[in-house]
Parts: sequence; structure tokens; C-alpha cells
Amino acid sequence: MHSKNKPKEPAVPMDRKETVRQMIISCLRDKTLSAKELSGEVRVSEKEVYEHLGHIQISINKGGQTLDITPAECRKCGFVFHKREKLKKPGKCPICRSESIEQPLFGISQSK
Ligand SMILES: [Zn+2]
Repeated sequence: MHSKNKPKEPAVPMDRKETVRQMIISCLRDKTLSAKELSGEVRVSEKEVYEHLGHIQISINKGGQTLDITPAECRKCGFVFHKREKLKKPGKCPICRSESIEQPLFGISQSK
């Protein structure tokens, strides 16, 4: 026993992370959802959803699919956060300083 040096187990097993990602991917194939809605569907925190989405964005590109992002929008003045590179929803509007921001929405589609 213990003759081989086994690598340390990660704190969160990889297969669980993979399962969550697969669940998110299958949700987003059917419908467009916000991170908050996704967190309810797959039962992880919103923060985790954003982390997974970052990975999903890269991994599905290899399979010829695209993560479609509907940008966040200010509910007050209608400013659209087009250039935002981070997936996470912005804290406040740079134009009117309103903190009432419509969440970005995510979906998956087949790229051409
Ligand atoms: Zn605004």
C-alpha cells in the first residue's frame, strides 16, 4: 500500500465540477438564463455560476458552439454594457449611476 506517490486530491472533486458544467450547458441549450436563474437550476452560488461560465465559454468554443451573452442593461437610462469583458453583472451605471441593472443573460448556440 502507498507504494506510489498519488497526487493530492483537489478540495472539490473534478467530476462534481464537470457535472455542474454539463448541467449549466444543457440548461443554456434550451433557454436563455441569467446567472441568478442558473444558480437556482443547478444549485450552486451565483459566484460559482460565473466561474463555470468562464470555463464553459472556452470549452464549448472547441466544440463549435458559442456562449451568447445578452449584455447587462441599465433599467433607468437604458445604457447597455456592450464592452464589458467580464461576465459578471456590473455594479452601477457609468452614465446615470443607477444601481438598478438588468442582469446579463446567457445562452448557447451552434456557431457557423
Ligand atoms: Zn443608467
